[in-house]
Amino acid sequence: MYDYDLLVVGSANADLVIGVERRPGAGETVLGSDLAVHPGGKGANQAVAAARLGSRTALLARVGDDAYGRLLLDSQREAGVDTVGVLVGGAPTGVALITVDPSGDNSIVVSPGANGRLAPADVRAAACLFHASRVISTQLEIPLDSVVEVVRSLTPDSRFVLNPSPPQPLPPEVLAACDPLIVNEHEAKVVLGDACVSEQPEDWARLLLAKGPRSVVVTLGAEGALVASPDGTARVSSVKVDAVDTTGAGDAFTAALAFRLGAGASLAEAAAYAARVGAAAVTREGAQESFPTAEEVDAL
Ligand code: ADP
Repeated sequence: MYDYDLLVVGSANADLVIGVERRPGAGETVLGSDLAVHPGGKGANQAVAAARLGSRTALLARVGDDAYGRLLLDSQREAGVDTVGVLVGGAPTGVALITVDPSGDNSIVVSPGANGRLAPADVRAAACLFHASRVISTQLEIPLDSVVEVVRSLTPDSRFVLNPSPPQPLPPEVLAACDPLIVNEHEAKVVLGDACVSEQPEDWARLLLAKGPRSVVVTLGAEGALVASPDGTARVSSVKVDAVDTTGAGDAFTAALAFRLGAGASLAEAAAYAARVGAAAVTREGAQESFPTAEEVDAL
């Protein structure tokens, strides 16, 4: 009945990474390693993660008419994502300038570029993608007005999944559509704001639910996750792995959860699967490069 299991509406960035002995201070120049360029951005990452698991996936995003835009389109197509909804032009492709020191600490400057030009009108113009998709997922690396427009574009039978990253306070209209709202500890605290009166994830989930979402998932890194709905709260255990690089774990988790929900899994079942996908992703370096196939998840 649906052409797509998942429509991701979100960002696509080129991550430009340079290794340095020491991150530069104000007015300072340091020499670093050769430049590494990786496809990234939360929207692009989630679309690739879902497609690699076998999800029929489309991406609605905006990139520039430039080499980084082409790199991003290529990585989506290679993973099997339908890029019919990727708009080209209007501003340079979004980039993240990342310096990483030997301890793994980094400094990042993001130029949203074309991501900041993914406008509500672009969302309205993609109505056919919304009608063709079982689940719609988004994040906050595109304008909040456009996220509001995504919520207004949902069909009565579709399901909306939001990972509010980078976090900011959310309008009630957006919160009420989430099923689920997926947050890590930092995102939970920002979305709750003054209402965050506890250090317990169960309390965050309960307080978040009271703000309107139909369900909530709190991801807890190596501790797994927690799912909450009006029926109650349950812990999802993590899979023990040797973590090498946690970049993109949250994106892999969100994509897997959205995909399994669309296939009819319960929230707890989908989160258990997503925890395995997140665990598999941390066993390899990088973001998109680290996302597992369904076979690799089964083998874990
Ligand atoms: P984010 O990247 O958004 O901060 P988390 O770090 O909570 O998200 O990771 C998302 C999910 O990936 C977790 O809920 C967990 O299931 C899995 N995960 C992350 N880190 C590990 C780890 N070290 N070991 C096993 N699973 C992990």
